[in-house]
Amino acid sequence: MSKLQQTLSIIKPDAIERNLSGEIKSIFDKNNLKVKESKKIHITKDEAAEFYKVHQSKPFYNDLCTYLSSGPIEVMILEGENAVSENRRLMGATDPKNAEENTIRKLYGISIDKNSVHGSDSMENAAKEIDFFFKN
Ligand code: UDP
Ligand code: MG
Repeated sequence: MSKLQQTLSIIKPDAIERNLSGEIKSIFDKNNLKVKESKKIHITKDEAAEFYKVHQSKPFYNDLCTYLSSGPIEVMILEGENAVSENRRLMGATDPKNAEENTIRKLYGISIDKNSVHGSDSMENAAKEIDFFFKN
């Protein structure tokens, strides 16, 4: 069953730095995910730590937070049919080496940490993550 949903997407510093924002957004557009809101921001390490707190016990947490706050990012609300799973499908696997052909991470990801994009992994997290960046 298909449902109109919203999800949060982030274009991470490695992709912003390489001016890939337009190409990534054109992939969303071609696949019927509409960019409803978008803003380019540069968050602090504390904000990154709050955003990624589900990963606080992981060995990569500190580096992940340093990385997400290392340069500008673009945060977006995507809307479309099954937007949460559709965005995850378009992103590809966390490690670009394991990502399917033509996914964003396969096309543009550099490594498991510099993997170009973030996408919410459930409707519940999508709502929380949209609130985190777009409330008020
Ligand atoms: N990450 C990392 N090393 C790992 C696993 C994850 O640096 O071994 C980073 C990577 O940038 C990933 C983020 O932590 O996108 C969040 O991890 P998650 O497992 O939630 O992957 P995602 O949902 O982004 O595919
Ligand atoms: Mg995740």
